[in-house]
Amino acid sequence: MIIKNISTEVKYIPLKTPFITALRRVNTIEFIRVHIVCDQGEVGIGEAPATMAITGEDISIILESIQKVKDTLIGLEIKKALEVLHEQSIGSSAKAALDMALMSILGFFKLEDTSFIQTDITISLNCVETMLSDARQACENGMSILKVKLGSDIKHAIEVTQKLSLGCPKAQLLIDANQAWSLDESLIYVNAIENINIELIEQPVIAEDLSSLKLVREATNIPILADEATFTLQDVKKVLQTKSADMINIKLMKCGGVSKAVEILEYARKNSIKCMLGSMLEGPYSINAALYLAFNYRDVIEYVDLDSPLLYKEASDELDFIFSGSKISAKDT
Ligand SMILES: [Mg+2]
Repeated sequence: MIIKNISTEVKYIPLKTPFITALRRVNTIEFIRVHIVCDQGEVGIGEAPATMAITGEDISIILESIQKVKDTLIGLEIKKALEVLHEQSIGSSAKAALDMALMSILGFFKLEDTSFIQTDITISLNCVETMLSDARQACENGMSILKVKLGSDIKHAIEVTQKLSLGCPKAQLLIDANQAWSLDESLIYVNAIENINIELIEQPVIAEDLSSLKLVREATNIPILADEATFTLQDVKKVLQTKSADMINIKLMKCGGVSKAVEILEYARKNSIKCMLGSMLEGPYSINAALYLAFNYRDVIEYVDLDSPLLYKEASDELDFIFSGSKISAKDT
């Protein structure tokens, strides 16, 4: 199969309510959809959302990157194109969109085990009362794993954690600070919530500061999850070898796509490292790609953070999966 054409379009999906973290506020998901067409008519679709705050790529940067490598990839056989793609110096989201389109042409998206998996749901950063009512509402809607977005106000962070653990006693709480805290604030936080049952704390400190991340890890029994600190397999190895975190959050947009995520997942499997499989706010095709991984690597993926479709204002018929509360099942089963 030889690549004949690569085209892009810009797509938008409005959200039910704004998505708010320590890094950004989003009302509409804005993403690129890329179509790769081969000589015998095979088509692969990939997507990449604009997440300037995380990958440094907005829509125009992703479009420029795809434009830049397009002519290099056209005329190549699919496996060769994958190899060449990952040698290019373009952003990780643009690579991810092209990579997932190529992997879909290669027939990668098949399920080994079709039994359902569970996703968390994001509780956006807001005033304490709103976060509590959002969390209660989520639990009433059948969600049992809450990804709680906290910000730089550490008093607020502690209060939210305390109130949510009392208000939603059956829910598993995953705390995500999105790099908002200093080392001192992180230590104040872990001491203050010592007696609260939370599952993990994600990226408390700035991505580059692995030594502080390690100190937070040493100060608590709660597992520490590295997110913004781990883009590539090299980052993952560094974080784990320096014992800076217990777990890692893998996202297609950070690592450069499905083939790269597979390398990280294989490494995690070999080294018995538990992972979260997360995403940015993404469109249906890139969520499909992530979900095939979540289903097929369920032995290493302890937490699935793929709630974007639950946040869409209108349900998408382009998903290969059905979301029902926190449960995700494959459409064909
Ligand atoms: Mg995160």
